[in-house]
Amino acid sequence: MIPTIEASPEEIYDIELEKTLLQANAKLAKENRAQLDRHDITAIDFMGAIGSGKTTLIGRMAAKLKDQFNLAMFNGDATTVDDVNLIAKQGVPTVQLATINGCHLDANLVGKALRKIDLNKVDLIFIENIGNLICPAEFPLGSRARVVVVSVTEGPYMVRKHPHMFLGADIVVINKIDLAEVMGVNVEDLARDVHTLKPDIKVMLTSCKTGAGVDKVAAALLAIKESRADA
Ligand code: MG
Ligand code: ZN
Repeated sequence: MIPTIEASPEEIYDIELEKTLLQANAKLAKENRAQLDRHDITAIDFMGAIGSGKTTLIGRMAAKLKDQFNLAMFNGDATTVDDVNLIAKQGVPTVQLATINGCHLDANLVGKALRKIDLNKVDLIFIENIGNLICPAEFPLGSRARVVVVSVTEGPYMVRKHPHMFLGADIVVINKIDLAEVMGVNVEDLARDVHTLKPDIKVMLTSCKTGAGVDKVAAALLAIKESRADA
């Protein structure tokens, strides 16, 4: 038997603070969503570990959808502007959300970013969260859908180890499938782990390098955008 030590709520000294913080965030997320809805804007946020391919996937989505929609992109990055520059190069208006040492985006930062763009000239916003599989799950931003990007390079257990991330998501993209064999990772096993956690979630397989599956993800995002039009 391996002993397990689990923190009880009384032992987590910041729990009171955290509860209030999460409530405040949830309220701001609702306000963001109401503002987006008033302008008929669909926001989709992308979460996932460092190096899972969030920026590259967003870049591919921008290339597919920018002729059809007025896009904007908010990029959460602790310190650098490398990623936001990649998307800006495609002619997409971008806002950099520098969290400094913060390990997730929150609804307050996203609300500030919404004040930096002309909401009358945007239909679809992609939000890239900080590379992290833990706390972004707890901070809704006001988006219509949440996408989790995982890559086979993260090993075979990352889905099971981060259930909250997947429980709160609408789409899971398993990326870098061109590397699955060399990584010794079975993509079907990863997809099954996701479906075990959340049976109705959409799981899509991609390689942003070869382009496999990228059209299908773009179609899924388009469907989210269009479901808004019916709402
Ligand atoms: Mg990135
Ligand atoms: Zn965090």
